Amino acid sequence: MKPPICSICYKRFLKDGGLIYFKQTAEDIEFNKQFEKKGFTGHPSNAFWFCEFHYSNALKYKHLTKTEAFELMKINKVI
Ligand SMILES: [Zn+2]
Repeated sequence: MKPPICSICYKRFLKDGGLIYFKQTAEDIEFNKQFEKKGFTGHPSNAFWFCEFHYSNALKYKHLTKTEAFELMKINKVI
């Protein structure tokens, strides 16, 4: 798992904020299968950290894939 650094403002945070799992694409599903293997350590390809300021906004895009979500967040000036 990557350290908690916001995917929008790149702020490193300790307790507030959280990890959001976006809808998995076929590639994400394939990549994330590796986590079923014992001893595999890595970061799920559809999981992103958001600080306390960006978490609630980003949460609204959780039902989308990461590409769709970041695209819409850009359009809606969340980023
Ligand atoms: Zn942030």
